[in-house]
Amino acid sequence: MTAHTWVDVPDGSPFPLQHLPYGVLAWGEEGPLACVAIGDHALVLSGIDDLRELGLFDHGTLDPLLAAGPAVWAQVRDRVTALLQDPAQEQAVRPHLRPVANARQLLAFTVADYVDFYSSEHHATNVGHIFRPDAAALPANWKHLPIGYHGRAGTVIVSGTDIVRPSGQQKAPGSTPTFGPSRRLDVEVEVGFVVGTPSRLSVPVTAAQFTDHVFGVVLVNDWSARDIQAWEYVPLGPFLGKSFATSVSGWVTPLAALAPARVAPPAQDPAVLPYLHDTDPWALDLHLELSLTRGGRTCVLSRPEFAGMYWTPGQQLAHLTVNGASLRTGDLFASGTVSGPVPDQRGSLLELSWGGTAPLMAEGIGAVTFLEDGDTVTIRATATGMGGVPIGLGELVGTIRPART
Ligand code: MN
Repeated sequence: MTAHTWVDVPDGSPFPLQHLPYGVLAWGEEGPLACVAIGDHALVLSGIDDLRELGLFDHGTLDPLLAAGPAVWAQVRDRVTALLQDPAQEQAVRPHLRPVANARQLLAFTVADYVDFYSSEHHATNVGHIFRPDAAALPANWKHLPIGYHGRAGTVIVSGTDIVRPSGQQKAPGSTPTFGPSRRLDVEVEVGFVVGTPSRLSVPVTAAQFTDHVFGVVLVNDWSARDIQAWEYVPLGPFLGKSFATSVSGWVTPLAALAPARVAPPAQDPAVLPYLHDTDPWALDLHLELSLTRGGRTCVLSRPEFAGMYWTPGQQLAHLTVNGASLRTGDLFASGTVSGPVPDQRGSLLELSWGGTAPLMAEGIGAVTFLEDGDTVTIRATATGMGGVPIGLGELVGTIRPART
C-alpha cells in the first residue's frame, strides 16, 4: 500500500492513511454519524453510495459494522483506503469529509459486557506490595490464569465526559467505616479490545480465533476510588470503587491497522494449561502516555509500554470464554493497568505515589498523590503502522468534578 492520499494530512498527524480509525461524531444537530478519521477530517461513511448500500452506516453507531465480521471489516477498510488514494474519487468523496475539530465525539458502539483483566506483572506486583505488604506480592493464581472481573458496561463513557468524584464507604485502619467522597481517586492506564463477531453459548473461543471475533482497540481509563476499593474488595473483587465510570477513547483503531505493531510477548514461566496455549502469540507494541493537567499546568506523569504485558490479548479471550461464556457484539475487555518495571512506566497514581506515601514530583505542578477536583487526565498512545508510519490512537480525556453533596 502506498502512503499517498489526496487528502491534506498534516505532518505527524495521528490519523494518516495507514490508520483509518472508526468513530461516531455529531456536528451541531447533525448526527450521530459513523466516520473514519483521515488527518484532521472525518469521512462520513453513509455519504459514500456503495458503502451506504451495505446498510451498516446509517444507524449512528458502529454496532452493525462490528457485527458484520472480519470479511466485511476488510472490505470496508480496503474500499475507504482506495477512495482516499484515488484522485479520481476526490470530487465525489470530498463533500463527505468534515473537520473533526468542531465535532462532538460520541461513544462509538454499544458496550455489551465489560471485563477488566489484571495482566501486567509489574502492576500486580506493585499493588501486592502496597495493599498486602506482609504477603507474597503476586497471588498464587496470577501466573496460571489471567485474573479478571466483570465491570459495569452501562457506565463506560466516551472521552471528554466529566468524572464526578464518587462517594462511598471507606475505613481507615483502626477506625469504624465512614461514608463520603473518595479521597484517593485514581486512574488506570489500559488498552481495551472491542468484540465484533459474537460466539455461541457453551462454545469456547480459542486464542487462535482472536481475529475472527475482535474488531479493534480503544484506550481505557479505569477510574478507581482506592479507599472505596480497599474496604470493599474482599472477597468478591472490585465493585463500587470502579463501577462509577470507565472512560474509553472515541476512536476505535481496527486491528488491521496494528498488524505492524505485533511483537513477541514476554516468556511465560511456568507453562500455561493447554487452553491458554497460544500457537502464534503476539503482544502489541503500543507506547502509552499518562499526563495530568492541574492549575493550568500539564505534566507527563508516566510512559507505560504495552508490549510488556504478561498475558496476551489472545489468552485473555480464551480465558474469558473457556467456561462457555459467549461473546456479544460490543463486548469490551480491557488489559488491566499497564505498568512497566521502572517508576516512570507506572500506569496508576497508586503506584506512582506508592499508595500516597511518596508523592510524585510533577514538573510545574508539584507533589501529586491522588486526583483533585478540576484535574484533567489525558491518556495517549502511539504505534508503528503500515510502512513504518507512526499512528496515534487518539486521546482519552477526563476531568474530575466535585462530589455531589
Ligand atoms: Mn483496571
